[in-house]
Order: sequence, then C-alpha cells, then structure tokens
Amino acid sequence: MGKRGVQYFTLSEIEPRVWFMLTGCNFRCKGCFRPARDGGGTPLTPEETLKRAEQACLRYYGELPRKAMITGGEPTIDREYLLELVRGLNERGFEEIVLMTNGYEIGRDRNYASDLVDSGLTEAHVDIKAFSDDIHRWYTGKSNKPVLEAVRRLNDTDIELVVQTVYMPGIVEDEEIEKIAIFLAGVNHDIKYRINPFAPAFAFEKVSRRPTIEEMEHAYEIASRYLPNAIISRSCYREYPTPPPQETWITVYPDLTFRRRTIKDQEEDRIAWLSRSKSKPRDEIVNEVEEERDSFEYRQKLEEVTRLPPHGLS
Ligand code: SF4
Repeated sequence: MGKRGVQYFTLSEIEPRVWFMLTGCNFRCKGCFRPARDGGGTPLTPEETLKRAEQACLRYYGELPRKAMITGGEPTIDREYLLELVRGLNERGFEEIVLMTNGYEIGRDRNYASDLVDSGLTEAHVDIKAFSDDIHRWYTGKSNKPVLEAVRRLNDTDIELVVQTVYMPGIVEDEEIEKIAIFLAGVNHDIKYRINPFAPAFAFEKVSRRPTIEEMEHAYEIASRYLPNAIISRSCYREYPTPPPQETWITVYPDLTFRRRTIKDQEEDRIAWLSRSKSKPRDEIVNEVEEERDSFEYRQKLEEVTRLPPHGLS
C-alpha cells in the first residue's frame, strides 16, 4: 500500500472532530493558499495514518470522534490510499466522513465515486473553479470536464454533496456563476451551492481582488434564480457559525506533537510557504499580506449577507 504525505491532523475544540491534512495536489491553482499543495509532510500508509489519528484523538478527547474531514492538498490523488482511509474510519465507527476535493480524479474514474461511498464516505465538497474550460485550464492547469463529471457522479449517490466556487472579480464573476448554477440545476435542482469570496492576502498569485459585498450579493442572487440552496459563506461553516465562537484549534503533527494554534499561527505557515516557494524575503510577503488583508468591516458585512439555505448548511 502506498504512502501519502500527512502534514498534520487538526482536532476541533468545539466538538470531537478530526481533520486529515494530506499533501500534494494535481492542480496548480493560481490563487491557491494551501501550503499542503506542494507535497511534504510525513509519508504514512493509510493504516499508519489511522493509527496516529486514533492516538491523537484518544489522547485529546479520551475517545474517538464521530466526525472526520479529509482535506489537503488534494485527497483523491492516490485512490487506494483514500479508499483505505475512508474504510478504516468507517470501521472505527465514524459517522460523518467528509471529503474536500477538486473532483478531477473522481470524474476521470468511472467507479471512484461509488467506491468511496461503498467504503463509507458520507459527504463530499467539490470545487467548481470555473465553468468555461479555458478559464479553468488557465487557472488550475487542468480541464474542468472531469470536475463536472465528478459532480454528476457524486450526485447520483446518496451522500451529501456541497459544490463551491470562489468569486474572483475579472475571472469568475456573474457570468461564470450563472453558467455553473444552470449546470447544477440540470444535475439536481436542490443541490447545495456555496459562493466564497476570493481572498488575495495569502493567494499564491494575486490574480484577482477581494469582491465587494455588492458583487457577492449579486452573485448570490443570480445563483438563487436557479438553485434554492445557494449560499454565500465563509469557507468552513462547521467551524464558523456566526459569529465565530472560537479561534484556536489543536494541531497534532504525525510524530504526535500537540500544539494549540490560532488563526495567526496558520497565517504564519502561509507566510513561510509563500516566502519559501516564491524566494521572497518574509518582510516583503508580510507587507503584501497586510495590504490585502480583509478588514473587520468587510468580514462583518459578509457575515450579515450570509444566508443559510432552508434545510440548513449549519
Ligand atoms: S486550491 Fe486546492 S485544488 Fe487548487 S492547487 Fe490549491 S490545494 Fe490544489
């Protein structure tokens, strides 16, 4: 069985829940803000990954949680590893097993979606970065055809499905959002669709700016014409009900070192990554981040316009 790089596990302080942060990605999104995309971490087999996550959870919670989120990087790039990981979580009694994916590999493999579901997956979040293939290729380096196919295939299963798009002024705005909404409505009128604002501060390339509140609202209105379950939201609805009740997480590294980390610590990781991978001095990166940082007012207004769908993505 192959190994995957594991950057760390994250344990929620709100309720027992564990994230698996796997490294490596098959896309090269210009606006990516995830250091995990570039590989690294500790190479572990699925069994080793499960064992260390189990040890971390038992040490912190005294029991195994019921909820697991698998993210990265891109979790699907090693099919056997992922299936084994999901199966192992299912066998250990996890009731919510959520995959965050760009969908590309799932759409290229006829059986991937159903095999994931048979292994115990209960929910998938798929990003549609753009509907127009030329924009998608420019932004990610890959065609979006497999991504759209992944959405169809996952929708054909009985698991929860959430589709997401980042609104990027000048690149993915109303026209793209409308095309995506029409596509999704054709797949399933009730599909859950979330629009997130581009956040240039930590983006690998600052290809766009932060959308205005009005642009976000307008995009939401457009998507809502086709989809009753559209939502504007912050990126992690589980950890950020409104307002965020907590701003720290427990990070457990694969050697089982524990650290309580804040949003500031996460920002430091991103600054270090940008400085390293762009060969730029840290101070220069910090200045760029400060220029682009979301203001408190912006986040507050965005919270105000956040709407929950009728049956609740909360
Ligand atoms: S944004 Fe996600 S899919 Fe795109 S390169 Fe980064 S980790 Fe990969």
